[in-house]
Amino acid sequence: MDCPNCKTWNPDDKVVCWRCQAELPKPKPQKKKKLSGGFSPWMWVLVVVVFSATLLAQCLFMPNVIPGQ
Ligand SMILES: [Zn+2]
Repeated sequence: MDCPNCKTWNPDDKVVCWRCQAELPKPKPQKKKKLSGGFSPWMWVLVVVVFSATLLAQCLFMPNVIPGQ
């Protein structure tokens, strides 16, 4: 990105110009959101809840196995 004040090139992550310390305009937001596998965060919560419920149900409804019998 070029500085609007002195036209010096600055890296895109710079907030102020390295040469004249002028404030640089914010770069355009890139629409590249890397969500894990396209899943929303609440989706993962749902998966964990369902998984936990299944695991809990298995523990509750499984017949108790007494060792040594
Ligand atoms: Zn500048």
